[in-house]
Amino acid sequence: MARFTRSLRYRLTLSYVLLFTFLLALVGVFFREALSSILDHQTRAVLEEEWGAIKGYLWIREGLPIWFYDEADPEEAAVVDRLQRVLLVADADGKVLEVSPLYSLIGVDSPEKIREAIRSQAADFTVRKDYYGAPYLVRSGVLTEEKRQFYVAVGRPLAESQKVLEQFTLRYFSLTPLLILSCCLVGWFLARRALGPVNDVARAAQRISGSHLSVRIPSRGADDELDRLIESFNRMIARLEDSFEQIRRFSTDVSHELRTPITAIRGQLEVALLTAQSADQFREAVENAMQDVERLSQIVRGLLLLAQAESGQLALERTRLDFAALVGDVVEQFQIPAEGAGVQLEAELPPECMVVVDRLQCERLVSNLLSNAVKYTPEGGSVKVRLETASGKIRLAVEDTGLGIPAEDIPHIFDRFYRSARASPGPERGLGLGLSFVAWIAKAHGGRVEVRSVVGQGSRFLVELPAEPVA
Ligand code: ADP
Repeated sequence: MARFTRSLRYRLTLSYVLLFTFLLALVGVFFREALSSILDHQTRAVLEEEWGAIKGYLWIREGLPIWFYDEADPEEAAVVDRLQRVLLVADADGKVLEVSPLYSLIGVDSPEKIREAIRSQAADFTVRKDYYGAPYLVRSGVLTEEKRQFYVAVGRPLAESQKVLEQFTLRYFSLTPLLILSCCLVGWFLARRALGPVNDVARAAQRISGSHLSVRIPSRGADDELDRLIESFNRMIARLEDSFEQIRRFSTDVSHELRTPITAIRGQLEVALLTAQSADQFREAVENAMQDVERLSQIVRGLLLLAQAESGQLALERTRLDFAALVGDVVEQFQIPAEGAGVQLEAELPPECMVVVDRLQCERLVSNLLSNAVKYTPEGGSVKVRLETASGKIRLAVEDTGLGIPAEDIPHIFDRFYRSARASPGPERGLGLGLSFVAWIAKAHGGRVEVRSVVGQGSRFLVELPAEPVA
């Protein structure tokens, strides 16, 4: 039951029904008021007419009311009879000249009230109840006969109008529960139709799991809110699939990276145990193993640092510094290795370029780019470093005439452990982490890095950083 009452279908139907009930009540009250006002209007108009007719039939001679009409005419007789039914005629002092029995039941007006009416000359409508509580509408006013003024009041029972009103109310409000019930049924049915596609989406979503992330919910082609939800959902699944794929590739890569040096260490030590005879042979085996251990710890250190960086644990320590001087220093450090590799290294730097950045990370960024450029440029090639400033940004370009990167590798070179198949094997082999750091450092500073490369001609890495931290 709790599950049912919380269901969207139930709540939608309930809202329909509540809204419909409210509207029904509102419409009922409105029409009842309108009907009441029309009936009231009608009674007043009839009374007004009757009061006017009295002037034609009632003469007052020497203080006595005389009805003047053709008694042989049944129609006229009926009219006069109706006029006399609820009637009071009094003189200006309040003395009653004629009163019908029904008017007596309402109660004859007091002489004060009559004198007041004569003085104000005002026509008046009042609702009054008779002895039994039945309501009457009474129209009173002043009639002038033989230069004297008389008070005349004529009334009509309101029972008929009230009955009409009561009948309307009874019929309308006894129909209401039936209407509300039909609204419940229609609402329940409509809510099921409206929510049908949502249930389809939910069923499709249930089929998606960690191992079935390629499943997509088919769009309904209606271009409505639900389709937009499906689209966002599919995009979210696509992003999840990407992340899952990255994690999967990462764990495969890490195990592969760690396995190679461990196998080498194990092999060297086993061979030494089985075959080494002298202390020198043991020393050589241990030294080789040490090299692999060093590589292992480099990988672990690099990974740890990258994991810290990407999970936000490695905060930037920004200071104001001269970026041109920073790049100049790193280029200086690479002059000797570049010369050793027969690569010409040149820098084109502005005299000063003040920025607010993390010194250590920016040194790492420049150094990673330079180390790659020198590493992947054969003897006789050249590496150029250019720094320029433009509208609050700095642009650092590292260009080489080296091996270049195949187009299919470019989207992956910033991934961890990704090394192009052309990258040199052996001890020179990099960890495949350098560019991941470059990408993270640029991003953490609110900048970006892009690469253009042609195989056999060289590569150009362009880093763009804001000169001031972005708020
Ligand atoms: P590595 O330690 O292997 O250099 P990086 O993350 O720094 O790892 O680079 C990833 C891959 O990108 C390299 O293995 C190489 O294939 C390619 N690469 C990076 N820089 C250059 C360059 N300047 N010229 C050619 N290839 C490059």
